[in-house]
Amino acid sequence: NQTILLKSRPQGTPQLSDFEFQKENKSLEISEGEILLETKYISVDPYLRGRMSDAKSYVPPFNLNEPISSGVVAQVKASKNDNFKEGDYVSGALDWKTEQVSNGEGLTKVNADLAPLSAYLGVLGMTGLTAFLGLHEIGKPKAGETLLVSGAAGAVGSVVGQIGKILGLRVVGIAGTDEKGDMLKTEFGFDEVINYKTTEDMTKAIKTACPDGVDVYFDNVGGSISDSALFSINRFARLIICGAISVYNSTELPTGVSVQPFLVKNSALMQGFIVSNYAEKFPEAIKQLSEWVSNGDLKYTETIVEGFENTPQAFIDLFSGKNKGKMIVKA
Ligand code: NDP
Repeated sequence: NQTILLKSRPQGTPQLSDFEFQKENKSLEISEGEILLETKYISVDPYLRGRMSDAKSYVPPFNLNEPISSGVVAQVKASKNDNFKEGDYVSGALDWKTEQVSNGEGLTKVNADLAPLSAYLGVLGMTGLTAFLGLHEIGKPKAGETLLVSGAAGAVGSVVGQIGKILGLRVVGIAGTDEKGDMLKTEFGFDEVINYKTTEDMTKAIKTACPDGVDVYFDNVGGSISDSALFSINRFARLIICGAISVYNSTELPTGVSVQPFLVKNSALMQGFIVSNYAEKFPEAIKQLSEWVSNGDLKYTETIVEGFENTPQAFIDLFSGKNKGKMIVKA
């Protein structure tokens, strides 16, 4: 039985030395009302970087020398809880442990026959919901409009772009390699993709790729990429601030273009959100996402890293874009 603890708060880019493995040989016992869980898949997510720092945020920070937790799919190995039986699969926020005891609170049963288990951490889980709800609730997309998505080849971005295509928008993505760009165009139906690592003038590239301007900008990365997008926004544009991975490891306060004049001039809306703001809409959103996945309108890709011991490295690799689609560890 192994656990991954947060050993030190990362300074800049997280390092393997910020994590510690703890091994225990004694087997876990359950009491009345409890279940014993074996971890199958672990979700590693950019937002965990925020929880590794002690700055105040919308979720409390991880404590030093305590287990890290994230979305996990686990199998029930033993149960003394009437709601779960041996063999069931569950998903929920659980510790980075190979085995753990839970009272079942906050866990949802998932059906391994309906979708691969890993999908419940991605397209049919938190990142799929983020894409769907952020785009609909703030972006209010209309057919014929132009949707620009940053972090386009990632878990959230790749779903956002495809929903845009389903709804009849022109979709332009921004991603970090040509291979990712090819995938987005040939497999996921994006109209254009800009490789921000090989493009010198992003402002110009966005203008060229979005000749009618940008009506909806779904921002996963923040920083200078998003500054460049401001120069193309249309009147009444909606800017969905989902994440800002490009500045999560910054040790100094980022500086950039002043956003206010762009918003005023274009009567534009810029709004941040946290997916859990829309919890009451999860069932409806999951129903739609599942339908699109099963009829083939919505495709998804995952980068599955084998081995529980590689969880910290998989997390670190998010910041250099080693993943295509959802980054997941198979324990
Ligand atoms: P991704 O699957 O998109 O993985 C992260 C990707 O970000 C990498 O693959 C990499 O792709 C890109 N990236 C890394 N560093 C940079 C950089 N410096 N500049 C530009 N791109 C970079 O992660 P998720 O889909 O899980 O999350 C995407 C964003 O959404 C994150 O910012 C996350 O915090 C946020 N989020 C917000 C939620 C909410 O409720 N608001 C919920 C879930 C996620 P590339 O090769 O293209 O660089």
